[in-house]
Amino acid sequence: MSPGCIFCRIAAKEIPSTIVYEDGEVVAFRDASPQAPTHVLVIPKRHVASLDDAGDAEATLLAAMMLVAKKVAAGAGLARGYRVVTNCGPEAGQSVAHLHLHVLGGRPMTWPPG
Ligand code: AMP
Repeated sequence: MSPGCIFCRIAAKEIPSTIVYEDGEVVAFRDASPQAPTHVLVIPKRHVASLDDAGDAEATLLAAMMLVAKKVAAGAGLARGYRVVTNCGPEAGQSVAHLHLHVLGGRPMTWPPG
């Protein structure tokens, strides 16, 4: 756990969130400021600051997060499609320095993103 990290505190249940999935390594919870009818964040329980901070040791964890994203989408009934995004670094708009996947769905989406 990284001191002061809001997502570490969510994973530790020190800060309330609406958890939709949890296992030994990964937690998924609803984004507090949803950008689509379904907007869930998938995080590792242990602190990894961003995709840039993940290395070979995180390969299994990264794969597990992607599979959780798929489970979240299936659980939300997003059969028509969904988007999985990670913002990495300030220019990409990362605002919380704890690796997370956004799972977005339930409305048509455009490409490229802004
Ligand atoms: P990013 O900007 O890619 O780092 O995404 C961070 C996301 O975390 C944003 O979509 C925020 O709305 C979301 N967020 C921040 N604090 C909380 C919180 N306490 N509970 C749920 N979502 C949060």
